[in-house]
This record gives sequence, structure tokens and C-alpha cells, in this order.
Amino acid sequence: MSIDRFGRNINYLRISLTDKCNLRCVYCMPEDITFRPRAELLQDDEILRLVRIFAGLGFEKFRLTGGEPTVRANVVNLVAGITATPGVKTVAMTTNGLLLRDLSRPLANVGLQRVNISIDTLNPQKFKTVTRWGEIDDVLDGIDAAQEAGLGIKLNAVIVRDYNDKEDVVDLARLTIAQPWQIRFIEMMPFGSVSEFQRSYVVSEDELLSTISEALGPLATVNGGKLDGEARLFELDGARGTLGFISSVTKPFCAGCSRARLTADGRLRLCLLRDSELDLITPLRRGTDDDELTAIIKEAIWWKPWGHGLGQDVIPLNRVMSEIGG
Ligand code: SAM
Ligand code: SF4
Repeated sequence: MSIDRFGRNINYLRISLTDKCNLRCVYCMPEDITFRPRAELLQDDEILRLVRIFAGLGFEKFRLTGGEPTVRANVVNLVAGITATPGVKTVAMTTNGLLLRDLSRPLANVGLQRVNISIDTLNPQKFKTVTRWGEIDDVLDGIDAAQEAGLGIKLNAVIVRDYNDKEDVVDLARLTIAQPWQIRFIEMMPFGSVSEFQRSYVVSEDELLSTISEALGPLATVNGGKLDGEARLFELDGARGTLGFISSVTKPFCAGCSRARLTADGRLRLCLLRDSELDLITPLRRGTDDDELTAIIKEAIWWKPWGHGLGQDVIPLNRVMSEIGG
């Protein structure tokens, strides 16, 4: 078990498999972003070694993200290696879904359990605008393929004021009436060079709840309002699925945080929204043995920050979201 100094059990690792992406969502990265050279990123054997070490420290839950994790070469074999690691209980992926048409089945076959697919609107034109060039039909095909492959599905929508905060939110929420999915509305968070945009266009959970209930009827809390991971769940009357709200900015969930993040370039980040990181790639490449790596990771986990500092205007500046993985 890995406990931090506040007594939280940290057992969930989110691994960014690459900083690269086949889209350029406006709230995530600038259009002219320069990606890191491949040599600076963790190689497959390095990721697998770290997964073994983290599993040895009691980590059970792993999520693969990015950038876009499905664009990483050899992703199916890498997932197979992660799911086969002793101690690993669940492996999920956060993806934009564009490549799931072909990858869902192979990924499910090697033990991937769930996918969170990002889809901010069902409107094709708006989807293209926010992603800068994405085609929504590719995502919808990806969702179908994931469903056929038996993967658990959650949909993620980042809400941006004056873009998708009204009828798009309602259209997405309506999907839960017929489908057993969880649709999660994510408050936009500020990062680095795009933070001004993000801070001006954030939409609160309370505002979204009113928009949805005005259009589709009352929302009941699920699990007595207890968080499911980082999401507060609601359901529409008679719906098969649920609505989740991830409100890191207006209703932080730091007290129950069990996460650590591994960036694609091998840094351990203990809070998504704080800049401090532990360099793991350098000791890894210098030949540090497993015992020593375990000790430095354990020590860093102990010092995990209590929570983010957005309320005090402390904004993460050293990276954009795509480098950390969300
Ligand atoms: N490319 C994959 C995807 O889009 O799902 C995985 C990486 S992406 C960085 C992970 C999640 O972070 C996505 O759901 C995305 O919408 C969300 N995201 C990106 N930038 C964000 C921001 N500034 N605030 C909140 N969520 C953000
Ligand atoms: Fe790519 Fe995901 Fe960022 Fe969009 S949110 S640019 S799909 S990494």
C-alpha cells in the first residue's frame, strides 16, 4: 500500500503513453504545438518496468492516456504487458476514439476493460471546430466498435462557455435515456499557455445541472451523492445511463484523490494541477535498481500535495494537458 502523509491510499496510476495527438482540441493544446522527440519518451520496456514497480507498491488501477494513447506504436502489445503484470486489477484508456474502429477488438482481447471516449458535442460542425479538424463520425464508429468489443464505455465532454454549454449538453445528456453509458461533463481546467482561454470559458456544474433539468426533467442523485471516482452522479427519470460531473475547479475532490500520473517523458506528477514532478526517466536510464526506484517513488507519494491551488490563483504552467494526460 502507498499512503501519503494525509492518510490517502494512492493506488491509481494514469500513464500518458505519448504527448502526440491526431487532434488539436482548443482547450488542450495550441495548434502549432511541437511534440517531444521519441527518444525523450518512455520506451515500452521502461513503462512495463515502472508498472511492475507501481503494482509492487499496491497500485491496482491503471489508465492509459496521452496525448492520444492509440497513436502510440505497438499500443496493443504494450497494453497486453500491462494487463499481464501481477497486481494490476483494472486497465482502462482515455481516448478521442478516432482509432477505436480498428483497435477496440484487439485491445479488449488483451484485457483492456474500459474506455472513456471524449466527445464534446454531437454536432459535426462544432466538433470539427473544437478539435480543429476531427470528424465526428469517426468517434461514433469508435463508440460502436468499443460496444461491440464488450468494452465498458464512459463518454467525456469538456464544457466550454458559448460553445457547447447549452443544447449540446442537453443532446449528450439525452443519450443516457437509451444507452447504459455514463456521460461525464468535465469543467475546463487552466494549463500553461492556454490558461487564459480556459479560465474565461469555464462553466460550473450547478449551471449545467439547471440547463439539463430545464430541458429533460428532474435529475436524481445516484449513490446518495457519493463520488464515483472523481464524478458526482445523477440520473434522469427512467434513464439507462447516468450523468457524471467532474468539477475540479468549482467543487474540488482533492480529499479523496488516489491518483498519481506518469507523463510520457517519465516524470511522476502527484497532482494534475501542480507543477512539481519527480524525474523517473533519468534514474531509470542510469541503471538505478528496482529497490531504489521503489524507495524514491514511495517517498514522492508520501509528499503528494493536499490539493490544487486554483482557488489561490496557482495555475500549472509547466505543461499543457496533453503532456500529462488528464
Ligand atoms: N486524447 C485523449 C482524449 O481526448 O480523451 C486522452 C487525453 S485528453 C488530455 C484526456 C481528457 O482531458 C479528455 O477527456 C479531454 O477532453 C480532457 N481535457 C483536455 N484539456 C482539458 C482542460 N483544459 N480541462 C479539462 N479537461 C481537459
Ligand atoms: Fe488530443 Fe485528447 Fe488533447 Fe483533444 S483532448 S487534443 S484528443 S489529447
